[in-house]
Amino acid sequence: MTRAIASGHDQDVKARLAELDAEILDAGVTHFTAREVTRLRKAPGTVYAIPPLTLWDRMVRTLRDVAEPLRAAYGGPLRVLNGYRSSDYNAAVGGSKGSRHLYFEALDITASNMEKLRALVAEMYLTRVTEPIGVGFYRGNIHVDIGYRRRHWGSMAARSLDEARERLRDGDTQPIDVGENDCA
Ligand SMILES: [Zn+2]
Repeated sequence: MTRAIASGHDQDVKARLAELDAEILDAGVTHFTAREVTRLRKAPGTVYAIPPLTLWDRMVRTLRDVAEPLRAAYGGPLRVLNGYRSSDYNAAVGGSKGSRHLYFEALDITASNMEKLRALVAEMYLTRVTEPIGVGFYRGNIHVDIGYRRRHWGSMAARSLDEARERLRDGDTQPIDVGENDCA
């Protein structure tokens, strides 16, 4: 069901990407695109994997409820390193068998100021306690997903969450200087 085809040459893939972009925009998501969340970055060339239609709502939710709010709080571009992974691709890049990337509901993101992004993700995780949000904290990127179950992991998780707890305990609700919002 999954097809990964070099874009730019394949009209069918282009059409599916346009359809997904329309759904993303319909959800009010303006800073992320279908190409960003379907590209197989470690594959040779520019290759997109189009997930089954039944999974599209999951990525739309992740973008609307997690990525876009983070982007707004961060006040600058977030770069998507990984979105969807087909099962072949997931195996090839050493992804875990139950990876939420397989279900088109996970993103690995990075930003120029990782310290700030980690702090924002940690606060989001700690303040949205009833939501099934997954967060993986690493030095170079952060994994986020929503819709599966609540959990956290990663080499930077303990430190990031401890610091956020400290800030929240201090009652400082605006602890992070988000700077100029460069939305355009
Ligand atoms: Zn991930």
